[in-house]
Amino acid sequence: MKQRAFLLPITLLALAFSPAALGQLTADRIDSTNRADNADQTRRMPIRIIDNVWWVGHSEVGAILITSPDGHILIDTTSTELAPWTVESIVNAGFQLEDIRYILNTHPHEEHMGGTAMFRKLVPHAKLLASKETADVMATGGLTDFRYMSEGDETDLFEPIIADGLIRHLDEVRVGDIAVVAHLTPGHTEGTTTWTTTVTENGRDYEVVIYGGMSASGADRGRLIDNEDYPGIAEDFQRSFDYLRTLQCDVYLYPRATSIELDEKMRQRERSADGPNPFIDPEGCQHYINFYEQRYLKQLEEEQAARG
Ligand SMILES: [Zn+2]
Repeated sequence: MKQRAFLLPITLLALAFSPAALGQLTADRIDSTNRADNADQTRRMPIRIIDNVWWVGHSEVGAILITSPDGHILIDTTSTELAPWTVESIVNAGFQLEDIRYILNTHPHEEHMGGTAMFRKLVPHAKLLASKETADVMATGGLTDFRYMSEGDETDLFEPIIADGLIRHLDEVRVGDIAVVAHLTPGHTEGTTTWTTTVTENGRDYEVVIYGGMSASGADRGRLIDNEDYPGIAEDFQRSFDYLRTLQCDVYLYPRATSIELDEKMRQRERSADGPNPFIDPEGCQHYINFYEQRYLKQLEEEQAARG
């Protein structure tokens, strides 16, 4: 058995970010979950979604870990405050941080990648890859994200990080016999990236889609019309919705629990431990796309009406 080389840093982190302090911070940040619930849910992390795909981190904002005997791929790192939970839950799932080979991301918003700076220190040999647009925003710590530029909310900023390499549409990232494919799906941010991978359960292959984020931010945070900081935003959103419909999808994920009905699916799993895996949900994939497309269309209509 290999030594747990990261026990020391985790202990130090635990001192620096005590669960009580973290609980306070997360409860303040995450408005959709009450505090008691939060504590309960957090204790249940990590979650094995299917085969070698894990939800790690917090009950509401998580990261996706895809594992193999030859090393792992981590998609997103959660926020600066939540990253210590994410580190702990990777270790609690029985994996070692030093076996992470790649750190990828869905999009450069603080809650999903503020923790990347910490992961860079803990796993310096892991390669950090990102789309060009995301790498540019990462390098400025979020200063050049259009939402920050329109709104100026300082909580959106994070420690600047330089990517080791760029990924393009349909690039494959491979470790041993696992692979994830990048699909550029801009709109929520200019560099938003959806990832797909194939897993096997009970002798059957399933397509897992990790959506990069398809939520329109509202007219006050991210205008769809006359957005000087992201002129092509509306067209990008529509193209991305149309494109996502073409992807085969059996299991859908996104690093926010409420967006993927994580709690509901976990309750379903508890009720029927021998039943089918509730995360295998092809209809849910389509529902996810339709839901966010409707939200986008509603905002577009409202902005058009306001413009007259
Ligand atoms: Zn976001």
